[in-house]
Amino acid sequence: MPSYVVLLGPPGAGKGTQAERISDELGLAHISSGDIFRENLKNQTELGKKAQGYMNRGELVPDDLTIEMIKDRLQRDDCKAGALLDGFPRTPAQAEALGKMLAEWNGKVDCVPYISVPAEELITRLCGRWTCRAQGHVYHEKFNPSKKPGVCDVDGSELYQRDDDKKETVERRISVYLEQTSPLIEYYKKLGVLAEIDGTLPIDQVTSLMLKALKKG
Ligand SMILES: [Zn+2]
Repeated sequence: MPSYVVLLGPPGAGKGTQAERISDELGLAHISSGDIFRENLKNQTELGKKAQGYMNRGELVPDDLTIEMIKDRLQRDDCKAGALLDGFPRTPAQAEALGKMLAEWNGKVDCVPYISVPAEELITRLCGRWTCRAQGHVYHEKFNPSKKPGVCDVDGSELYQRDDDKKETVERRISVYLEQTSPLIEYYKKLGVLAEIDGTLPIDQVTSLMLKALKKG
């Protein structure tokens, strides 16, 4: 039986790194909803064209269309052992639709690891980033500071904060994520498949805790 995993974690929790490691380790296809979208739009598939229509009218792409894209993606060869979904579902309604779709194949979401990191820690991680104007070298105030504050070690150019790395932006992104995701977390908790993982631990430890949870699920 293929195994289906939904990975959850706020921005700054290291979800991307863990998704890569886990999918490699377990032979699962790493399916990011953003990638599927871009691919369907780029290749002008039927589904892509439909989605484009909604976007052109400034409307949200309906869940059933997104589900169709995911269904299509899950039928490719690299999904034989299963898949790790990243970025979808985002709401309990989408989770329900996904569950129904998998049930048609006698499958289900087996495990939902949630990489949990306190908001203050996420803010420290994400706000401390400074980028060099000349070549985009990236530093972090706390984890990887430049030798001279405000100056790039490599080329001596000025360091600045991208809008995405500014405190107001980061705080907003995190609170929006937590607000939107908490109903989804509750949904999967009730189904008994949620595995909360302490994302403040070292990266390797987070990986091994996730693998343990996935093998149990
Ligand atoms: Zn530089």
